[in-house]
Amino acid sequence: MSQKIPVGILGATGVVGQRFIQMLEAHPWFEVAWLAASDRSAGQTYGEAVRWRLKTPIPEGARQMSVSNAAPEGAPGVIFAALDAGIARELEPQFAAAGCAVVSNSSAFRMQENVPLVIPEVNADHVALLERQCWRKDSGGYIVTNPNCSAIGLVVALAPLHRNFGIESVFVTTMQAVSGAGYPGVASLDIIGNVIPYIAKEEEKMEEETRKLLGTLEGDHVEPAAFSMTAHCNRVAVEDGHTESVSVKLKRKASPEEIIAAFREFRSTPQELELPSAPAQPVVYDVASDRPQPRFDVDRGSGMTVSVGRLRPCGVLDYKFTVLSHNTIRGAAGAALLNAELLKVRGLLNPGQVSVQTQAANPSATSGQALGHPSGTPEPLPNSDRVGVHS
Ligand code: NAP
Repeated sequence: MSQKIPVGILGATGVVGQRFIQMLEAHPWFEVAWLAASDRSAGQTYGEAVRWRLKTPIPEGARQMSVSNAAPEGAPGVIFAALDAGIARELEPQFAAAGCAVVSNSSAFRMQENVPLVIPEVNADHVALLERQCWRKDSGGYIVTNPNCSAIGLVVALAPLHRNFGIESVFVTTMQAVSGAGYPGVASLDIIGNVIPYIAKEEEKMEEETRKLLGTLEGDHVEPAAFSMTAHCNRVAVEDGHTESVSVKLKRKASPEEIIAAFREFRSTPQELELPSAPAQPVVYDVASDRPQPRFDVDRGSGMTVSVGRLRPCGVLDYKFTVLSHNTIRGAAGAALLNAELLKVRGLLNPGQVSVQTQAANPSATSGQALGHPSGTPEPLPNSDRVGVHS
């Protein structure tokens, strides 16, 4: 019998769900035991339900699996969730209340005070916040999130600068791939030969998540990093890979050589723990004058390495440079996998600590109250429009 931990994928047929299937096919610790999506897909085999968009074939095991309803009954104790925020807001608490460890990609709960928003290279200690969720006491379940796909590339690149020199301000402009909008995502007539200077809620997410990720854990909450920041977000006709033009002002003066050394020498918890999805080098600095580029560099480190290049003086802040990261790997499925690997090593995926109840242990805990939402009822999210769509 397999010794691997059985995991489920909620939203298995979407762009991120497909990446999970691909990345979990040969995972040494986890194996896919359960798939769920909307009512449109439930009851079909995965092969029938999915519009497979990846270049590698659908793993045979997954192709034959049947797609379940998106309800916790029958689900394994570890759930990778890849749902739109509006649906995640309703469903993720149901799984946490039923005792699941929900490792989420959506923005629904990222900024809740007692929900860890984690990049293991940057703020592995923030995982401790999950103990503040009431599901944890009632059923063992909890929600842990990974950041927005643009915030993650930026923050992995900023972390070595923040650590070594301190950051005073950040100005970033993104050029984001169409796969970041899910499937079918942005209409071809909107994006071919075009740039769309709007992605719903993206700039707000980048600005607030960056400060939470680089903030300091203080007891029951994270004190956000105190630097000023502004983000401009654009959708461009690139398949995979978000490119970002970044300017930074540092607290302490640093030479270009010191900055490049900080990028190159950056190592952290996932590398020390040798987590299976951890890239050997989280940040690669490319000396070529015209790199990184999504076509050539997006798959560096199996999609988990963030590429940085073009470091030069900035006429407004101190320095400017270019960042590239894979939005559905480092920015989504790979980020969640790395979080789950960290949780396993920290003993937070152990049987008994995470166990599915057949019914929600405390039905009232399925509301936003479980997360300490003041009214107990999460505010409705605006409908995403299909031009900006989610990320
Ligand atoms: P997507 O391609 O639109 O996939 C959405 C998934 O959710 C599909 O499996 C869909 O199933 C399922 N779903 C829709 N309505 C449902 C319902 N009522 N109940 C259960 N399942 C339902 O979206 P995506 O790009 O994979 O994104 C998923 C999440 O990850 C979003 O929150 C997004 O913001 C976040 N994210 C995405 C990226 C990226 O680069 N794409 C990066 C970081 C984070 P059906 O096929 O049956 O409709």
